[in-house]
Amino acid sequence: MDFFNINMGTMLIVIILGHLLTGVLIIAYTAQHKRTKTVNTFLLSKLLQALAWFMIGLRNPIPNMVLIAVGNSILFIGAALELIAFLILKNSYTKRIKRAYISLLIGCIIVFVSAIAYGFPENVRITLGSSITIILMVFPVYKLFADKKSSILQKIIASFYSVTILFSIFRAYTALTTDLDMNLASTNIFNTGLFLLLYIAMLAGSTGFILLDKEKLDADLLKAASFDGLTNTLNRKTFILRSKELISLFARKQEQISYLLIDIDDFKKINDTHGHYAGDIVLQDFADTLRKQLRNYDLIGRYGGEEFAVLLPGTGKKEAGDIAERLRAAVEDSSIQTDTEIKYTVSIGVCTIIPDKETSIDMLYKLSDKALYTAKKQGKNCCRNAIKA
Ligand code: GH3
Ligand code: MG
Ligand code: MG
Repeated sequence: MDFFNINMGTMLIVIILGHLLTGVLIIAYTAQHKRTKTVNTFLLSKLLQALAWFMIGLRNPIPNMVLIAVGNSILFIGAALELIAFLILKNSYTKRIKRAYISLLIGCIIVFVSAIAYGFPENVRITLGSSITIILMVFPVYKLFADKKSSILQKIIASFYSVTILFSIFRAYTALTTDLDMNLASTNIFNTGLFLLLYIAMLAGSTGFILLDKEKLDADLLKAASFDGLTNTLNRKTFILRSKELISLFARKQEQISYLLIDIDDFKKINDTHGHYAGDIVLQDFADTLRKQLRNYDLIGRYGGEEFAVLLPGTGKKEAGDIAERLRAAVEDSSIQTDTEIKYTVSIGVCTIIPDKETSIDMLYKLSDKALYTAKKQGKNCCRNAIKA
């Protein structure tokens, strides 16, 4: 089994270099833009882990309990920061969690350092150290796994960390129940396994983090490119794109779709009377009303200024008319409290069709726009159906 007896010094150097090189790559990757809190946290964790392993490695030539205590404490902090970076990335690092997690970390370090100070034997220290690793990892790994919104990438990273947890349980148990020499400096299959696992966890953590950061950045960019920043409804371009897909789907199914074009009445007056900022609040309030009143598979888009479009898949003429009227009434009945009370109304043009290959979003727009024009002409604050349906 000589093959497995990898020199521990070599393994340590590989792990130290691994952490440092990851740090260098992340610095290079983020050189162009401002580094986020997540990236800075992760970078610090890499630096601390490299330093910790260096100190733990030094204890062989210089056997010194202070070195072991400081080295391990830094390792715990480094590992915790790595996991915190993942939590921040997932927006799961709330103030409450931060307080609990940091208290936990400090508690673990105090217990570990005390165990060294009181001269507990090495195997007890190993059990303690492994238990601390488990305690620190469980919550972040659970978060990566349990969140319904977690991507496949996040779950795979969590799986790698889970293996480390399982191995730590095994290591804690073995150290407690056998008198195997588990000192990291001794060469045996068990330690080789440990180092290989540490190496894999380091690779998975580092590569995973960079990919995850990129995944989030891509998602943010896609959101910024698809949504209207003020109202958080789809922007015109994305609304049209998604509508096209739905129109062709419903053309295949030969089922009805309805399209509403909604315009806020006398919006210019609202701006002039209450100011542009109040106007913006009205727009946001209206978008909220739309979201509350509609189903989550209906499309809502801001077409321009104070004009919104809604696509109701699988909705017939009667039902669309009812929805439009419900929307109109909901807006009429509500009011917004800013410095003063603002009340506003909307006019809605409705059209319903069974789409075919020829149907375009432009056609639906024109039909509803005519109906909307009629609604405006007939006194506003009302819904009108398109003539041709
Ligand atoms: P009508 O009842 O006929 O629809 O009249 P209106 O005043 O609502 O329509 P008009 O098209 O004359 O005015 C729309 C106004 O919307 C003009 C523009 O300054 C304002 N507007 C467009 N986009 C925004 C925005 O993002 N925020 C605010 N506050 N106002 C906006
Ligand atoms: Mg208007
Ligand atoms: Mg308008």
